Amino acid sequence: MVTLFWLQTGACGGDSLAILGAESPSIEQLFSSHGVELLWHPSLSHQSMRLHDEVIERILSGELTLDILCVEGSIVTAPRGTGLYDSYKGRAKMEMVRDLAAQAGVVVAMGTCAAYGGVNAAPPNPSDCVGLQFDGAQPGGLFAEGWRSRGDLPVVNVAGCPAHPHAMTQTLAWLATGLPLPLDEINRPVSHFNTVVHQGCTRNEYHEYDIEDLEPGGRACLFFNLGCQGPLTHAVCNSDLWNGVSSKTRAGVPCFGCTSPDFPRDADLFSTEKIGEVPLRLPLGVERPRYMAYKNLARAAAPQRVRDKKMEP
Ligand code: SF4
Repeated sequence: MVTLFWLQTGACGGDSLAILGAESPSIEQLFSSHGVELLWHPSLSHQSMRLHDEVIERILSGELTLDILCVEGSIVTAPRGTGLYDSYKGRAKMEMVRDLAAQAGVVVAMGTCAAYGGVNAAPPNPSDCVGLQFDGAQPGGLFAEGWRSRGDLPVVNVAGCPAHPHAMTQTLAWLATGLPLPLDEINRPVSHFNTVVHQGCTRNEYHEYDIEDLEPGGRACLFFNLGCQGPLTHAVCNSDLWNGVSSKTRAGVPCFGCTSPDFPRDADLFSTEKIGEVPLRLPLGVERPRYMAYKNLARAAAPQRVRDKKMEP
């Protein structure tokens, strides 16, 4: 069995809620079929906090092996670097993470807050939040850039606000096998962060022909006016739908780029920042000088049914 301890720090609990929607594998299958033994989860464990404390003591004393430590939430370091704004029985959670991580085979940051700081680290960041091994896009959060777990791995960043259910359970199932887990340059599993939200979006044809919505509620693309970050954001939201049925863009909401280390960007999430008539942030790989030429040609070539924002019968 592979032991797993889940610790919440500065968190809203969204990742814990999201993981309940996983189906392949579900969280139950993780425990019944993938050899994962849950030592503690703040919402799923029903025992008293005395057991919670005993489990931690046994891990720290070396009596109980900790294979996977999941951390959900930003690391609160205020006031003045003590971390005491987020504490348990007078002890800073920041210190609990440090101690448990020193024993863990691998540490997994569940969600963007734990990975990069996330919402709690947004300006003015009054609780001085950071991520586990990143402070925004900069390497080095609670742990230095070169920190490695007992299994010689950096913190594995399952980013998202919340993280995608299958990005969480499939990463845990893979880690339980003990096989190598390839990571990208900001330590996210390549398996779940090598595609962009734009891929699989039902509004793609509108994007290609530059038919853009001006306000929420339409069928067209949300990129040019309504702040969609789908073409810049690595995540599986439109190729592996949430709860098997939906995604933000399918529900008419722009992608906010929540798997990125600079999330949330310091701007209106529902509008597109522009320099003149050109969006500040272009789709990955698109060169700024060519963007406007392409855009005007694409609009001129749009079929009438797309201009009418209608689907084909
Ligand atoms: S709404 Fe966003 S994800 Fe969908 S096609 Fe437009 S830019 Fe891409």
